[in-house]
Amino acid sequence: MRKLPKLWRALEGIPGLLAVLEVWRQECGEDFEYARPYLQPTDKIGGRYPCPNSFSGCPRRIIDYDEDEFAAICQDEHQRCERVPLTRREALIHRLDLAGLLRPVLRAASIRPQSIAQHSPGVWVVGLSEQTHTRNFPVYFLLAHSAIPHRAAVNRLLLDISDSFLLVLPTNQFRTVESEGWLRDRRVECLCLEDQVLVDEQGEFRWARTVETRRAAGEPGPVPRSVGSYEAVAAVKHYIQARGLSQTEFSIQAGVSERTLRSFLAKGKMRRSSLDGVARAMGVTLEQLLRGELPPSVKRSARR
Ligand SMILES: [Zn+2]
Repeated sequence: MRKLPKLWRALEGIPGLLAVLEVWRQECGEDFEYARPYLQPTDKIGGRYPCPNSFSGCPRRIIDYDEDEFAAICQDEHQRCERVPLTRREALIHRLDLAGLLRPVLRAASIRPQSIAQHSPGVWVVGLSEQTHTRNFPVYFLLAHSAIPHRAAVNRLLLDISDSFLLVLPTNQFRTVESEGWLRDRRVECLCLEDQVLVDEQGEFRWARTVETRRAAGEPGPVPRSVGSYEAVAAVKHYIQARGLSQTEFSIQAGVSERTLRSFLAKGKMRRSSLDGVARAMGVTLEQLLRGELPPSVKRSARR
């Protein structure tokens, strides 16, 4: 069993799900075989073709010589990459059939696929939940290629839909503590394909149990490598402010890099051992920090 991180990253990395086959192959890496059956040729010739080097002006440009003759030409002024003759198929932009790819994945998650319909930019209705605790909730799929459209799409969805729903995301890369808070307030359950989709030895999709970051104390199961909570981020921010520290000073006290601290404040997760250091620096236990508790010396009333 393995996950398909490159496949889900490629969905978010390829604008409009449109690219020549070689770009799809490169972006999907070892997961390409799962995308291949769903790549359909358009009638448009691509503009760029990957190259193994990073000379200025490369990747290669696709040239159409008519009569179904194509080539990818190095863009470097010294033409340092080889010219690659291409077939028509290799030169054509291919679009990923999102509905086709998602159908078996959704079934593995106990979601009954429906004919996919666009709800708003980057958001599609894809099915109905058959999971016991969310039965008949509509399921939305959100695809964004950067953080700002992701945030806009989440916002719009929460404004448009007043009932409960499930939200499927390819990866966690654009999730923020802020948008997480909005979703949590509305009790929207997020399913992350990067974390939860597995393929078995037969190439069949399987669904992994939710990675619960706010695991109830004493619950059995493997200890997650990364932990965090919305409350913990708020507590750390409050502590830093109340103590008049800079993020640099606090990261030194906590024994973590500034980058790790910044990433935690943005995404809400950190390695358990690192977050333990943060908790100790604040004078609380890890469990207290995850609940958003502050040491008695920091007055809650100082909070704005
Ligand atoms: Zn090149």
